[in-house]
Amino acid sequence: MIFDELKLAEPLLRAVKAEGYTTPTPIQVQAIPPALAGRDVLGCAQTGTGKTAAFALPILQRLSEGRPPPPAHGRPIRALILTPTRELASQIVESFQAYGRFTSLTWAVIFGGVGQNAQEQALRRGVDVLVATPGRLLDLMSQKLVSYKALEVFVLDEADRMLDMGFIHDVKRVIAALPAKRQTLFFSATMPPEIQALSKGILKDPAKVEVVPQSTTAETVEQKLYFVEREQKRHLLVHLLGDANIRRALVFTRTKHGANRVTKQLEAARISAEAIHGNKSQNARERALDSFKEGSCRVLVATDIAARGIDIEGITHVINFDLPNIPESYVHRIGRTGRAGAAGTALSFCDTEERAYLKDIERTIRRHVPVVGDHPFRSGQTAPSATSLGEAQAQSEQGGQRSHGGQRPQGGQRRQGGGQRSGEGRRNGGQGQGPRGGGQRRGGGRGRSGGQGGEARQSQGQHRGSDGRPSKGAASAPAAAAPRSAPPPVRTAPKWL
Ligand code: AMP
Repeated sequence: MIFDELKLAEPLLRAVKAEGYTTPTPIQVQAIPPALAGRDVLGCAQTGTGKTAAFALPILQRLSEGRPPPPAHGRPIRALILTPTRELASQIVESFQAYGRFTSLTWAVIFGGVGQNAQEQALRRGVDVLVATPGRLLDLMSQKLVSYKALEVFVLDEADRMLDMGFIHDVKRVIAALPAKRQTLFFSATMPPEIQALSKGILKDPAKVEVVPQSTTAETVEQKLYFVEREQKRHLLVHLLGDANIRRALVFTRTKHGANRVTKQLEAARISAEAIHGNKSQNARERALDSFKEGSCRVLVATDIAARGIDIEGITHVINFDLPNIPESYVHRIGRTGRAGAAGTALSFCDTEERAYLKDIERTIRRHVPVVGDHPFRSGQTAPSATSLGEAQAQSEQGGQRSHGGQRPQGGQRRQGGGQRSGEGRRNGGQGQGPRGGGQRRGGGRGRSGGQGGEARQSQGQHRGSDGRPSKGAASAPAAAAPRSAPPPVRTAPKWL
């Protein structure tokens, strides 16, 4: 099926094409027609399946076609999307910006952990679509800043995660304030009894749609975990890249600054690397992707948002330099390797602060990631011997030269689907009042910890250092300044003995 068959309005089709999408995903094929027909939808699908477009496109269509409220009434909220974390909220509003860019509709996002002024102003000005996390929304509702008089569509996103995170009562309080006459689109990755009961209570004769959970794709990729302290990660990366079998690696960092830093460190170790993230121009990103595809660049360092839609064949390794704080991102990331039955390996670095993320990830993929105990930068271990680091660098230089020497990775370099065009730069250029620099926001802070508190109404986590991580004092000194620095002190016997 192609998008044109979905009976979407021309401005939406144009936006979808501009995003580089050609075929709708299964959840889109199943959910868009009933949603366009005005039916309630019960969707069993998780992030990564294309479910945002599955609800955003019909909403945009309905609101564009419907009669706009009289100007005297400002712009009352016509669609509400409730989602558990600020990261998801930011992503959803970015999607509205992308898909709704050729409409005259407006949108805004609200979540906790940041001042409410800008959000309050957006609400006073009025928006057609409001994306919100439950805690802050309730706060603003209690201040009488939110009116649902004109509400037509309600989306409950990631209902099971709302339950896990203890937000279900807040969700029920929000729902109680909504008009009964509305369209409801309900999405959940799993359907525990409490979520089933909730769905039965709020949906009327819903169209039921389901897609295979994304978490299963992880099983096609060999996964390995390295416990390593944060300041040792760069040494471990260089060490691992000493293996020439890592022909084409996609390295993920949490932030743009992190991506730049890692790239510089790799270049200093004579490993060809390029960074792609939202601070780079579209041209620079295209160039980086091209050199990665044709093999002159062995390592591409990316943030999650910049890597969206990138589909390059022949990625032999995905390396999680930083673990993602959204478990589904882990599944997306490692799904970039091992495509079409090819062998793929995912190597993940986990520092002490990331253990909670690891727990979340393992719960989501329902398995333990095998730990590599035998490596020279293991946490809790004294520093590597000078020899091991020296060897690692020598090996990596070989590997780097090899890739410079024109040895092309196997497999084609075809790019499918969205390609790099759906990067953050363009998305942020959209209209409406969504967050600018969504990439940063998504990366910034550690909203989610041990399955709790992803919503930033626990106000920690918003104001972070430039790399989006909590300050750790001296440990966060810019590593790029000393990429080939001497290895950490080695405990050897003093020379005079
Ligand atoms: P979601 O599950 O909504 O978070 O979407 C996951 C990713 O798939 C996002 O990066 C979307 O931009 C992308 N995406 C959504 N629909 C399509 C499509 N039909 N073709 C290609 N990419 C898509």
